[in-house]
Amino acid sequence: MRRPRDARDLKEQNLVARSKAGERYVEKIETKGDLMVALVYPNGYELAASNLGFNLVWKYLNQLERVRCERFFFDESFERFYSIDSLTPIDQFAIWAFSFHFENDIVNIMKLLLRKSVPLRNVDRSQSHPIILFGGALCYTELPLLNVLADVILHGDIESMLPQLNEVLHPTGRSELLRAFAGLPFASVPILGKKCESVSHCADLDFFVPVSPLICRLGEFAHKLLVEIERGCIHRCAYCMTGKLKKPARFLSLERIASVSQKHDSVGLIASNVTDYPWLDELIDLLEESKVSVSVSSLRMDRLSERFLRFLRKHQKSFTVALESPSERIRAIMKKDLTEEQVEKAFQLAKKAGFEEIKVYFMFGFEEESEQDLMAIGDMAKHLLELGFKTVKLSINPLVPKRGTEFEKRAMQDEKILRQKMKIISSSLPVRAKVHFESLRHSRIQFFINSMDEDIAEELLMKVQQADSPERVINDVARAV
Ligand code: SF4
Repeated sequence: MRRPRDARDLKEQNLVARSKAGERYVEKIETKGDLMVALVYPNGYELAASNLGFNLVWKYLNQLERVRCERFFFDESFERFYSIDSLTPIDQFAIWAFSFHFENDIVNIMKLLLRKSVPLRNVDRSQSHPIILFGGALCYTELPLLNVLADVILHGDIESMLPQLNEVLHPTGRSELLRAFAGLPFASVPILGKKCESVSHCADLDFFVPVSPLICRLGEFAHKLLVEIERGCIHRCAYCMTGKLKKPARFLSLERIASVSQKHDSVGLIASNVTDYPWLDELIDLLEESKVSVSVSSLRMDRLSERFLRFLRKHQKSFTVALESPSERIRAIMKKDLTEEQVEKAFQLAKKAGFEEIKVYFMFGFEEESEQDLMAIGDMAKHLLELGFKTVKLSINPLVPKRGTEFEKRAMQDEKILRQKMKIISSSLPVRAKVHFESLRHSRIQFFINSMDEDIAEELLMKVQQADSPERVINDVARAV
């Protein structure tokens, strides 16, 4: 730990130290290697704490012989950036590995690099700079922006990368490390012209057992041990990266879940859809017997049973589902595969199970949708109130076509049209519904990150490098293209 230089530095150290103070370790992680890797979650601590992938990568990288991996998060006030694990400043790390799961985090990544005087374009970096590495959910496909920004991109599941990473991750010069990364089939090293040959795929969750090494007191899954029981998804929604890029779906066995639930009293089950778990009844038996408190990450509406919802109601007060559109015709375009009957049955079952609060996700911004389709969101909210739900929350998001999905060739609708559609939806909503519209600015940035080519990425990074505010430049360029 470094002695703080001034009051601002002390404040930054204190904020990081307070986050660590709320962590409880369930596995000993030894940070003992001599190749310093900074694992950066490019957003606040609470989001980092809730991200199982981030915590797993920290655990796995520290299992490599020569690696000492420490965690970092982003805060607007940070200047020096201290590690959570030992309050070591980020400048002392040879590799800065960004855990990239959400497009809007690119703004924080750029801010961090600019504050630490690291050039944004990979071609402008020299031997004295750290290696800027990207991995995470957005690296299962190729994003042209990263070809200009990143030195190394690791594509796919970390688990099956580990033996080869162990071979190449040794303390040596920047050029040697880049050449070593270029020899890995799942790595892109754009500056050497090396592209990914095959996305890394972990076929057997049981072998690695994706369980978080620590429990945090903050975040969406506060005080819960995170366990990934499904990776990938069996469904095929046309707008979704997971459904397209992480096939086939893989599941953690009941035996492995049992070994975790016997030792812990509170778990968060991470899955694309918990209800797709092939042995769901047995899983409920197991969790009931072990008397653990449970949170689940998300639910599909076509696979809900009375038993499952009664079980869930004992652990959660709110029932959250992604309906996406009240129109079966629009859902068919999305390949959501949900009939009117399945939707109605799910609502009825949830009410019967005793849920009084419901949260429903919707999407809008399709060329094919009519005014009537938009107004139907309000009708759906009224129906839920009539069914007796006391709190009805709606999260309404514009369609952002993403790279690697079936919608990747679609354009995002024009902001003016989206605003008109938001007005139509708003006019249909009952006053008692609690409604959140996703920011159009954030959605526009997401689309921009997914749709830009390398020429635009070059132009963007050069402009941001000269500017005071990455956000403003990204907004301006996104609007102009
Ligand atoms: S949206 Fe959900 S159900 Fe559909 S493919 Fe993606 S993860 Fe699966």
